[in-house]
Amino acid sequence: MPEAAGSGEPRLVEIADGVYAYLQPDGGWCLNNAGVIADREGVLLVDTAATERRALRLRAEVDALGAGERRVVVNTHFHGDHTLGNSVFGPAAVVVSHALTREDMAQTGLSMTALWPDVHWGDLRVALPDLTYTDSLTVHLGDRRVELLHFGPAHTRSDTVVWLPEERVLFAGDIVMPGHTPFVLMGTVAGSLAVLDRLRELDPVTVVGGHGPVAGPEAFDETEAYLRRLQHIADEYRPRGATPLEAARDAGLGEFAKLPEAERLVGNLHRAWLEAEGGELARPVDPVAVFQEIVTYNDGRLPTCHA
Ligand SMILES: [Zn+2]
Repeated sequence: MPEAAGSGEPRLVEIADGVYAYLQPDGGWCLNNAGVIADREGVLLVDTAATERRALRLRAEVDALGAGERRVVVNTHFHGDHTLGNSVFGPAAVVVSHALTREDMAQTGLSMTALWPDVHWGDLRVALPDLTYTDSLTVHLGDRRVELLHFGPAHTRSDTVVWLPEERVLFAGDIVMPGHTPFVLMGTVAGSLAVLDRLRELDPVTVVGGHGPVAGPEAFDETEAYLRRLQHIADEYRPRGATPLEAARDAGLGEFAKLPEAERLVGNLHRAWLEAEGGELARPVDPVAVFQEIVTYNDGRLPTCHA
């Protein structure tokens, strides 16, 4: 198990020369990690943050590194905690994502702010990617190679992982969230399992997930174990006509009860049910309707967004 993310202030942790994880404890709903790759030419950021205040704080930490002025922002996927802060980096920053991530960002807009209206979001606007790719893209930042790779649908239909082949550092986005409950409602169980195999083949030493503490490749195994259990629950309960909510209540959390955001189980089982029907992986669902069930399962409480 990775060490606990703990609480406290966001912080930059150097994980290789000029390569940082920006960790926002405790990594729960809305509290994402970012990555920072600094060079004399400039900085490549992996994701931003959910609110204006949090993105400004990240920007200040990045500016204090004394790197060059160029700014490239890579969005690992469309979710607002990773992307709403893009606009804080201004028009001079080049924002990059998978082509479908840009489509999903355009369609989703600021809807995350409506889900948690009590959060002080600040002055945000949607800053869509300027540059998109479909399979892979290499960014040369000074002498450093930064590879943007899409291995197929996983946490969403169009996740990007950021791979530093020299340093063997992987920024995995929300495909991996060490010490936290995986969330594949808007993605795919089977696709995530396939992508985890591809991530293992990269053979990283250091894995920075989209939430939670810095980890190593053991985080792949922990994620896989959780996802396989979703498939087992679907195999057992769906043929009996149980709903995902009924199955979640009856099957319980098992060995994953220790993970925070346990209520994601209901959303995850919705995806497992859909996949058991067959058809295209990561096809759209109504996330708002399923979120209501997550609230129901969570004793009627909306999960807290700590942004
Ligand atoms: Zn996400």
